[in-house]
Amino acid sequence: MFDVDSLVRKNIKSLSPYSSARDEFSGVEGVFLDANENPFGNFNRYPDPYQKELKNVLSQVKGIPVENLFLGNGSDEVIDLLFRIFCKPGLDKALTFSPTYGMYQVSAELNDVELMQQPLNQNFQIDFESLNPLLSDQNLKLIFICSPNNPTGNSIRNIKKIIESFHGIVVVDEAYIDFSPEPSWTKRIHEFPNLVVLQTLSKAWGLAAIRLGIGLSNIQIIKYLNKVKPPYNISQPNQEAALLAIKNVEVFEQRKQKILEQKEWLMAALLALKPIKKVYPSDANFVLVQVEDADILYNQLIAEKIITRNRNKQIPGCLRITIGTELENQKLINAITKLAL
Ligand code: PMP
Repeated sequence: MFDVDSLVRKNIKSLSPYSSARDEFSGVEGVFLDANENPFGNFNRYPDPYQKELKNVLSQVKGIPVENLFLGNGSDEVIDLLFRIFCKPGLDKALTFSPTYGMYQVSAELNDVELMQQPLNQNFQIDFESLNPLLSDQNLKLIFICSPNNPTGNSIRNIKKIIESFHGIVVVDEAYIDFSPEPSWTKRIHEFPNLVVLQTLSKAWGLAAIRLGIGLSNIQIIKYLNKVKPPYNISQPNQEAALLAIKNVEVFEQRKQKILEQKEWLMAALLALKPIKKVYPSDANFVLVQVEDADILYNQLIAEKIITRNRNKQIPGCLRITIGTELENQKLINAITKLAL
């Protein structure tokens, strides 16, 4: 029987979280003399620490109950909180599959946790057979699976097998899921008590500036995330901006469709160019391309004021290219065409 409490660090279990003024009185009417706020100004009041209004709308959009949602200052904050809840510094370990999103490593190091990195195979998939022996390590507490994976763009298979055979927490990072034809794991958080899904408003929702990440899981894990988070981690202007955007699902869908159409166009246009050796399939809003010389092309593009992501160190010969507007994508193709002449 899986028991979340037995995985949580002792100091986190016994922690008495900071009790804010808004925890102690959550009504909206009255004379508020409880939080040492300034009575003057437009941004003078602390925001709702549990972002109830925003979560109510998100709950409808995602079809997930409010009590299964946690909001972080970007999903980067949720990643960090998961390390703090589950990994004893200097003792416990986490695991991920390389190449992948770099913040798992940074967060692990910040928390003095060893991050094991198992290489993905040639098809950028997890090799479950060689992973199996690692799963029984009792100090392994967290596994991060990024699907669709950044920077390879593909969706990861065999996730269910890993969730079922691991005693610790499996975090499926779905930052790019809105662009993917694959189903989200959010619908299965009630089935697997060790599953945490991460999503974000930074990508398909177009709200990277407001830093809003979502953790979706069972109520016990959500309870711990709420216990360790800074009291007012999502600012009032950011909650309001998110509310405004997520109420407008039509704009979200239109922009997403445009990006997906542009991805098809860009992939075909790139493939026709001489310096491009390979364009990998992508379930995300970026494509990984293998080129003749990644460092040279990267710098040549910068000279043309076009900035891509050089992934040569992680995947030899590769650049990661985000799908831009029609005009931006055309500029990229024109620049590479010119450079190849
Ligand atoms: N996960 C992945 C896979 C990402 O690529 C990114 C951002 N590039 C994040 C999480 C962080 O997202 P956020 O803006 O919500 O912190």
